[in-house]
Amino acid sequence: MGFKASILTLYPDMFPGALGHSMSGRAIERGDVEINAINIRDFAEGKHRNVDDTPSGGGAGMVLRADVLARGIDSLPDDNRPRLLMSPRGKPLTQSRVRELSEGDGVVIVCGRFEGVDQRVIDGRNLEEVSIGDYILSGGEPAAFIVLDAIVRLLPGVMGNAESGEFESFENDLLEHPHYTRPQEFEGREIPQVLLSGNHKKIDEWRKAQSQALTQERRPDLIQARNTQKPRK
Ligand code: SAH
Repeated sequence: MGFKASILTLYPDMFPGALGHSMSGRAIERGDVEINAINIRDFAEGKHRNVDDTPSGGGAGMVLRADVLARGIDSLPDDNRPRLLMSPRGKPLTQSRVRELSEGDGVVIVCGRFEGVDQRVIDGRNLEEVSIGDYILSGGEPAAFIVLDAIVRLLPGVMGNAESGEFESFENDLLEHPHYTRPQEFEGREIPQVLLSGNHKKIDEWRKAQSQALTQERRPDLIQARNTQKPRK
């Protein structure tokens, strides 16, 4: 059985979108992943099928209704898939959470719109709020693409070279070393000699040192976090 993603959205036509190409596109074709977009509006009632209403207490914008969204969530099989809500207030997405998700059977992803969703459906349906960064998007759909893209490439058989998943940026809380390929000289810049030496021990040492230095310079927070955290499993 493949990884099953159910997306609740007001714009189901956006899916699979970018995910229909390249690595994830081939994974969908093979059936390793199934991406099912469900229109939240299908669960609205009345002549106008309203999905949103004005915020209680006043203020700008509209809020996605708890009852409509809850009916959408309840239309899905009651399995153990984590239910994520894309939200700038959520826990920032990390590679280790992505890895955990990729080891499960699938995910349910709720895409917010407008000012966000009624708090009672977040509480009542146990939604895990996930943020993709400290900036505001107009809707949860682009965030859902990002979450799914990151998950799908880790599914068994999706990445061409299985090794390339393990030595990447953020695995082991380090940024990756720089890469080079032919031509040997580009506008007067050479490939570092050690990489052409064929000495694998030296190459490994050079890459590790580069990785450490880059992380120290650009993301000292990663190194600090590693020093204060429990050892990874
Ligand atoms: N008023 C909200 C922002 C709403 S943006 C606030 O200030 O917190 C509309 C929708 O876009 C959100 O409900 C969410 O689903 C999505 N979204 C916006 N920014 C996001 C981010 N950084 N990460 C994940 N989802 C985001």
